[in-house]
Amino acid sequence: MADANPFENLQEQIDDAAAHLDVSEDVVERLKHPERVLELNLSVEMDDGTLERFEAFRSQFNGDRGPYKGGIRYHPAVDRDEVMALSGWMVYKCATVDIPYGGGKGGIALDPTEYSERELERVTRSFAEELRPLIGEDRDIPAPDVNTGQREMNWIKDTYETLENTTAPGVVTGKALSSGGSEGRVEATGRSTMLTAREAFDYLGKDMEGATVAVQGYGNAGSIAAELVEDLGATVVAASDSQGAIYAEDGFDAVAAKDHKRETGTVVGFEGAERTLTNEELLTLDVDLLIPAALENAIDGDLARDVSADVVVEAANGPLTPDADDVLTDRDVLVVPDILANSGGVTVSYFEWVQNRQRFAWTEERVNDELEGVVVDAFETLVDAFETHDLPNFRTAAYVVAIQRVANAFEEAGNWP
Ligand code: GLU
Repeated sequence: MADANPFENLQEQIDDAAAHLDVSEDVVERLKHPERVLELNLSVEMDDGTLERFEAFRSQFNGDRGPYKGGIRYHPAVDRDEVMALSGWMVYKCATVDIPYGGGKGGIALDPTEYSERELERVTRSFAEELRPLIGEDRDIPAPDVNTGQREMNWIKDTYETLENTTAPGVVTGKALSSGGSEGRVEATGRSTMLTAREAFDYLGKDMEGATVAVQGYGNAGSIAAELVEDLGATVVAASDSQGAIYAEDGFDAVAAKDHKRETGTVVGFEGAERTLTNEELLTLDVDLLIPAALENAIDGDLARDVSADVVVEAANGPLTPDADDVLTDRDVLVVPDILANSGGVTVSYFEWVQNRQRFAWTEERVNDELEGVVVDAFETLVDAFETHDLPNFRTAAYVVAIQRVANAFEEAGNWP
């Protein structure tokens, strides 16, 4: 993995797009920095009675278009710059799909596999208690991200509601159905990855039927994307996680590989695969579609020279460095940027929040139909911007659309100093 700084990557992406826009420099400067970053040291009691310190962050990047919105990640590599970058990507993601949110992100530097469930609950509730004055249905709405899910969201909701002495299910999204979650939320990130891959193939006149696919990162987003592109007739030939990568020339059953990972903790050892690969071999496989679905900076400029896929769809946030982007643009590899490709997660979070506010639950069919409408519209708007402004790549096109929307919200609302 390249050691590029994700926050600098974000700022470079904004500058690249701003060069094609008529937005003043001072407003662009505003759009490159978070409004506020909360930095905490949580002291939490472990099962053996000792106290452990955890660094935790919440970055509220921009609220011009609505409440701050974005996930909370548990990972040892979490730090201030990463959380700031991720919160900025949320701003432009929400603007790309035109849902009424700003962007935020949080994280705790920890490896969840090293703690018991009760310890994780205490850490999460301690974080939620500290976040309480900053979050709320109309303020800032956390959600799942890497290594967090329904369980953590339910704890946050319960802590918030208990301390506030109220019911406020829309204070977090990605909850379990029984706690006010939405149908289709778990699958939503993988679903937008599939939808944007399908649209990108259509755009290039390529057939999804029989297309070969490699997936880096077989967590929630990657494994669901694999399953859904398989439903479109594609063949998944490789998948990886932090333990290693697997490969089968004629493909394997994406769902069976997911089941294997659920049972054993890794895709490695899955009987449907023929052999293992290194992470680098997976990323440079000669496939039709590459889905990076793990962490930031998976592909840098050097590795990008060896990427052999025709289409790259970013299920992860920030998997390509700006150098990698330049190389892939020069090499005519079509990249569907994260802020569109993985936008299904936050879009269905928005639907969850709408359902929570209305106390009215939608069917899974309705969720999936509305999601498809939002993602396909956003894809078409992006292609339109790409062609009319003659932009270098789809990422710049997405940022051109998104930055303009955020700048309009800021400028048209006026600024109360
Ligand atoms: N963590 C997801 C993302 O990066 C989802 C955020 C949300 O639902 O608010 O987009």
